[in-house]
Amino acid sequence: MLPPFELSQPTTLPAALSALAAGDGQPFAGGTILVPDLRGGRETSRRFVSLSQIAGLRHITHSEEATTLGSGTTIADIRKDPVMATSAPALVAASKVFAGAMVRTTATVGGNICCGSPSADMVPPLLTLDAKVMLSSVEGERRVPLREFYLDYKKSVRQPDELVTAVSWRPLPAGSAHLFFKLGRRKGDAITVTGVSVMVAASGGKCSEARIALGSVAPTVFRAGQAEDLLRGQALTAELIEKAAKAAADQCSPIDDNRASAAYRLQTAQALVRRLLTQAWQQASAI
Ligand SMILES: Cc1cc2nc3c(=O)[nH]c(=O)nc-3n(C[C@H](O)[C@H](O)[C@H](O)COP(=O)(O)OP(=O)(O)OC[C@H]3O[C@@H](n4cnc5c(N)ncnc54)[C@H](O)[C@@H]3O)c2cc1C
Repeated sequence: MLPPFELSQPTTLPAALSALAAGDGQPFAGGTILVPDLRGGRETSRRFVSLSQIAGLRHITHSEEATTLGSGTTIADIRKDPVMATSAPALVAASKVFAGAMVRTTATVGGNICCGSPSADMVPPLLTLDAKVMLSSVEGERRVPLREFYLDYKKSVRQPDELVTAVSWRPLPAGSAHLFFKLGRRKGDAITVTGVSVMVAASGGKCSEARIALGSVAPTVFRAGQAEDLLRGQALTAELIEKAAKAAADQCSPIDDNRASAAYRLQTAQALVRRLLTQAWQQASAI
C-alpha cells in the first residue's frame, strides 16, 4: 500500500531550489522509482518536492555546439525527437528498449541519472557522448562531467539541495558510430543484465577516438578507460578489439543476483564490448 506522503508542487525552478534548500524533501520527477519504492517500503522519506510542474525542465535543444536535454525530458520525448537519431543514436537505441510505453511517458532522464542505479539505461550512452550534468541550487550552478558524477552504488556528487537541471554533450566526431546494446532476460520491460555503449571515430584508417561504457556490471555505470586507451590511434584489428574487450571485462566487478550470475555478466560484458566495437569500427570506417 502507498503510505501517506507530502508533495509540494513548485511551478518555477527558483521555488523548487528554495524548497530543497529549506529541507522540504527530496526531488520527485516521474516517480517511476519513488512510487514503487514507497509502496514496497524501500523509500523512507515522506516529503517530496515535485518537479513535474516546472515547464523549463522539459526541453530538448540542438545547436552546432551542443545538444541539451532538460532533466524533465521523458524517455518517450527522446524517442520522438527527429534530430536525436543523429545527435545521439545510442541514446535513442536505449530509449527503444527502456521499460514499457506507460513508464517511458513518465520516466525522466534526470531521474534515470539521479537514481544512481548501475542498470540505468540512459547512462551508458550519455557516458559515451562525454555528457556533462548541470547541477543547480540556490547557491548557483555547476557543471560536472557525467564520468565524475558517480561515487559508488547509488552515491553521487549531487548534494541534497541540488537539482540536476540538464545534461548536454558536444556533437559526435565526424566519421563516428555510437551504439548501445541491452542484454535482459526478455526483450521488453526488463532490467538490464549487461548494458554496453560504445562510440568509435575513424580517421585515415585509424581510431581517432574510442569510448566504452558498461552498465549492470559494477556498483556504478562506468567508462572502461583502460580499454579505450588501447584503441586510440590504432587500426582496430580483431586481435586488438579482443584485447580491449578483455580489458573492459577486467574493469568490471559484477555481483550475483536473481537476474544473472557475476560470471555470466563478466562473460557477456566481454562479448558485447567485442561485438559493439567490431560493428562500430566497421560503420565508422565506411563513412
Ligand atoms: C515497470 C518499470 C520498468 C522500468 N524499466 C526501466 C528500464 O528499462 N531502464 C531503466 O533504466 N530504468 C527502468 N525503470 C526505472 C525508472 O523508470 C527509471 O530509472 C526512470 O528514468 C526514473 O525516472 P523518474 O523521473 O521516474 O525518477 P523518480 O522516481 O521521480 O526519481 C528517482 C530518483 O532520482 C531523484 N531525482 C529525480 N529527478 C531528479 C533531479 N532532476 N535532480 C535531482 N534528483 C532527482 C529522486 O529524488 C529519486 O531519488 C523502470 C521502472 C519501472 C517501474
